[in-house]
Amino acid sequence: MKVPFLDLHAGYLALREEIDAACHRVLSSGRYLLGPELEGFEAEFAEYCGAAHCVAVGSGCDALELSLRALGIGDGDEVIVPSHTFIASWLAISAAGAVPVPVEPDEDTFTLDPELIAAAITPRTKAIMPVHLYGQPADLDRIAEIAAAHGIPVLEDAAQAHGARYRGNRVGTGSLAASFSFYPGKNLGALGDGGAVVTSDDDLADRLRLLRNYGSKVKYQHEIKATNSRLDELQAAVLRAKLPHLDDWNARRAAVAKRYQDEFDGLPGLVLPKVEPWAEHVWHLFVVRAAQRERLRDALDEAGVGTLIHYPVAVHRSGAYADAGWPAGSLPIAERLASRVLSLPMGPQLSDEAVDAVVSAVRGCLG
Ligand SMILES: *Cc1c(COP(=O)(O)O)cnc(C)c1O
Repeated sequence: MKVPFLDLHAGYLALREEIDAACHRVLSSGRYLLGPELEGFEAEFAEYCGAAHCVAVGSGCDALELSLRALGIGDGDEVIVPSHTFIASWLAISAAGAVPVPVEPDEDTFTLDPELIAAAITPRTKAIMPVHLYGQPADLDRIAEIAAAHGIPVLEDAAQAHGARYRGNRVGTGSLAASFSFYPGKNLGALGDGGAVVTSDDDLADRLRLLRNYGSKVKYQHEIKATNSRLDELQAAVLRAKLPHLDDWNARRAAVAKRYQDEFDGLPGLVLPKVEPWAEHVWHLFVVRAAQRERLRDALDEAGVGTLIHYPVAVHRSGAYADAGWPAGSLPIAERLASRVLSLPMGPQLSDEAVDAVVSAVRGCLG
């Protein structure tokens, strides 16, 4: 049996009638931007997260960049970001004109190590951006304490963590603002690009609404210099159809993760992801560390099991940051992770038979 890493088409088929109906509603409405679907989705996603506001934009990357710009963070400012993340976290900081200052993660949980943050703070530090990488919340209380001691805000990158909880509260409610991505492969994915900022700060939400729409609240009155980044009506309608299923999908992901954890416990040459007791992980990705990663990857490929690497090149080793002052060896945990991590098939539509196939392929290679 072939097990693709992720089957987006299966995700569509599982909800075909609702998605088709949502699309037809928009197509025949004559309203394609800044309409009732956007308003409805923003209200529903804010409520789901437990926040006062949701401002939906064109992508997760835009959500991060606009949150920084809404706080006046830009030229010459520094923002603390994990060394091990998807490059978009860093690129959003750079796009705002600020400098990403990397801090290494806890190698077992993959999220920002709070104990290393203080040493990276300078008078120019204007925000801390933890990333809830692979779906597990970072240690938000510890991070908030450090941020408060320095009088700077926390802006969460929750692009991989829709619905995850930290000490019982949804991510997006324990900081000034959280950014989400609705890239198709995310836990809550659109049929194209999309993103959102969730916040309970009225002024910040107001500013974000200006920033995403040419600085305008009233047509042709432009209060500030801004950009155009709006979640369109079609994507908003699709996301409204999907949102009521998110908790069930996350529960299925958790069941698959539990099976992997049980079956792979103690296998030689394999380190399983650690879940903190205060975390409700939503398993965007199930990431193992393998001493002989390429051998395992080839064996799985041979058995028809698709895998991916998130991410094969540490951000500071990519061309984009070649001249940023972080040479090879300067962030050893990020570099080691880039050489060891492997993502196994994960998704709400993964069948029990598919999980069986992954289990026997991994055990066949390492057991
Ligand atoms: C997907 C992602 C982003 C960016 O989201 P886009 O919608 O692709 O722009 C940012 N940060 C992380 C951690 C992501 O996984």
